[in-house]
Amino acid sequence: MARIVQKYGGTSVGDPARIKNVAARIKAIRDEGNELVVVVSARAGVTNELIARAKEVCANPSEREMDQLLAVGEQETIALTAMALHGLGVQAVSYTGAQAGIFTDKVHTKAKIRTIDAKPLEKDLNAGKVIIVAGFQGINDEGQTTTLGRGGSDLTAIALAAAIKADKCEIYTDVDGVYTADPRVVKNARKLDEISYDEMLELASLGSKVMQTRSVEFASKYNVVFEVRSSFNHNPGTIVKQEVAYMEKVVVRGVAVDKDQAKVVVSNIPDKPGTAAKVFRALADANINVDMIVQNVGRQGVANLTFTVPQTETAKAERTLAPVLKEIGGGNVSVDEKIAKLSVVGVGMRTHSGVAATLFTSLADAGVNLELISTSEIKISVVIARDQADEAARVAHAAFHLDEI
Ligand code: ADP
Ligand code: ASP
Ligand code: MG
Repeated sequence: MARIVQKYGGTSVGDPARIKNVAARIKAIRDEGNELVVVVSARAGVTNELIARAKEVCANPSEREMDQLLAVGEQETIALTAMALHGLGVQAVSYTGAQAGIFTDKVHTKAKIRTIDAKPLEKDLNAGKVIIVAGFQGINDEGQTTTLGRGGSDLTAIALAAAIKADKCEIYTDVDGVYTADPRVVKNARKLDEISYDEMLELASLGSKVMQTRSVEFASKYNVVFEVRSSFNHNPGTIVKQEVAYMEKVVVRGVAVDKDQAKVVVSNIPDKPGTAAKVFRALADANINVDMIVQNVGRQGVANLTFTVPQTETAKAERTLAPVLKEIGGGNVSVDEKIAKLSVVGVGMRTHSGVAATLFTSLADAGVNLELISTSEIKISVVIARDQADEAARVAHAAFHLDEI
């Protein structure tokens, strides 16, 4: 007997037939005598629909009310999944995030998990029930519903696996595992048998939606080994863990594209100490995640700052920066949403040179202009035009022979 946490994503529970498919898979694992906690997402598209509906009634909805609204998506699926299991004669009970004891901080729409009180869950597990938990949601210490950021059901699953000391954590999705690039864009992308937390973390944070970034961070911190696999077949997936024995020659492990970023240029600001600090302090206080910062060399006392922010936060960034510009004595803010960030990732980059040259040459040959560049020990990112992003991903994938290794 093993204690298993499974998570089924939005496509896997997308309609009644798929919910029944998931229920049948759960029953098979339960019938083998395992203990099961199952996290489910909202049906595919539901969270986006709810966001669109909010925008129809209010241009700038309150984040607290957004959380109230979005939590509904997962609550539908937990009840339906439990009912489908009852239909198969399996004892199952649905739990909201709050009922599962998932306590978060107060930051609405991207709350962090603080503690999990697993006592109620343990009680039902001991009673032989399969527990179906709503992903993506929790409760703060004031009793308010919070959500964990887009894709947050992955985090719910990994945090629960750590909290109840599960033997296995399986993330079921609509592809067979983690690939060298998004298999929907790069047709000859290869599925990886294993990947390290470090590389998975970079790929996720750079736009590979297959895993939510914070869930990988959490897994790495608490050493939760997990497997990403498909709910539509029984193929082995990708194991994500601390150490992975790679062949020496693997320098680049994968290519990621993020189309959800926007470029912000703050131009003509005074070139003096403290200006950048004021700009980024204000953005940080507003909980806006800033990335890829470039400051040009100041000329005639003025400078430009360019950076990227999540596209969902551009309006908030503009609102936040308006008073700051007044305070620092001038400047303009402009936003370009038609960009994408393309990155290549690999721990092998620590010890190999020439990755940037290969990437830049391949993109130049394909006529792709680089607007911003940033590098770290294990990744290189470039900002490019969004309409060239898919082609650029295929070109970069080929340049590092990722279909061949
Ligand atoms: P779920 O609803 O199950 O959480 P997501 O849509 O969040 O599923 O994530 C799965 C999707 O991630 C896949 O359909 C695929 O298009 C996309 N994806 C992006 N990059 C990768 C990658 N490197 N490997 C696998 N899938 C990827
Ligand atoms: N339903 C949420 C979203 O679409 C959470 C998840 O699917 O993981 O972001
Ligand atoms: Mg997801």
